[in-house]
Amino acid sequence: MACSDSRVFLPRCLPGEIFELRTAGNIVPSYRSATACAVAGTIEFAVMALGVPDIVVCGHSHCGAVKGLLDERSVQTMPLVRHWLTQARHRSGGHGA
Ligand SMILES: [Zn+2]
Repeated sequence: MACSDSRVFLPRCLPGEIFELRTAGNIVPSYRSATACAVAGTIEFAVMALGVPDIVVCGHSHCGAVKGLLDERSVQTMPLVRHWLTQARHRSGGHGA
């Protein structure tokens, strides 16, 4: 899994070696069983249908999505991006740290 930013370079592999999923900012929305989600569906397919054993999240520096999380003004003219970034906001009620 990697950011959709084209600067993120994944290693060259042979066909069938990597099942790649890219989202802006590596964001994976919270799981909701009754809600269709392309990210969750893609991960489910990779694990259940293809038997992908490991999920690797590849971050990168100077991520525009992370910049948008830290400074909402940078995505002010992009309402869909702003909405996407809300998926990464901290939610309370978890297991604590
Ligand atoms: Zn990025």
